[in-house]
Amino acid sequence: MFRGRDRIEVKSIDQLHVMRAAGLVVAQTLHCVAAAVREGVSTAELDDIAAASIRDAGATPSFLGYHGFPAHICVSVNDEVVHGIPGERRIGLGDVVSIDCGAIVDGWHGDAAISILVGEVPADIAELSHVTERALWAGLAAARPGGRLSDIGHAVETVVREAGPHFGIVEEYVGHGIGSSMHMDPAVPNYGKPGKGPRLVPGMALAVEPMVILGSPEVQVLDDDWTVVASDGSMAAHWEHTVAVTEDGPWVLTALDDVRL
Ligand code: MG
Ligand code: MG
Repeated sequence: MFRGRDRIEVKSIDQLHVMRAAGLVVAQTLHCVAAAVREGVSTAELDDIAAASIRDAGATPSFLGYHGFPAHICVSVNDEVVHGIPGERRIGLGDVVSIDCGAIVDGWHGDAAISILVGEVPADIAELSHVTERALWAGLAAARPGGRLSDIGHAVETVVREAGPHFGIVEEYVGHGIGSSMHMDPAVPNYGKPGKGPRLVPGMALAVEPMVILGSPEVQVLDDDWTVVASDGSMAAHWEHTVAVTEDGPWVLTALDDVRL
């Protein structure tokens, strides 16, 4: 069932439960990969761990082959914001490692991302990741029936703006509707005025994913046609969850625990 001018897919409660199963595979995979992130590990090794986790759960990776993407997860290090391709690069102390994962169960998708601080990092870089995660949770909490789509981006932006002018919110890449496909209407920007856009109704599912740079928000794509980097070379963080709008409030489908806000 689709609703509104923006053709937003509205799921039944049974379909949301299948999305929760996919989201749990994503959560468990990110948990496994995070546990393996340490000095010296290659990003390809992290991809192998993700591949095994998704496969052992009986799920299908969303990313592998998506528009030709060659891996199971995106691994974006330091000034890489999103869409980094796993390879021979080895993780070092002080790195910020963002892992993005998607999985499919019975045709329904989950999508989430985390940023990991490797060893000791300067306070401003730790704050970058913490602010981005807090902004994510503020956005998730705004995914309530009766609210408007732009309430989510407004909540995200408010947290980042209050943290200080040295944080740049990436505008060229945004969150998205999700369900029977990974990327669906509507776009979910990480900024904006509240009270605009489609009304949120139970059964909608959205991937909320702030991308924040400790510097200018400008980004560019590397010659591999995938990796998005901060144009000024500053550190970046990326946190994401898939959330369902329900009668009882936001249901975070990609958390390890069953989180209802
Ligand atoms: Mg993602
Ligand atoms: Mg996403």
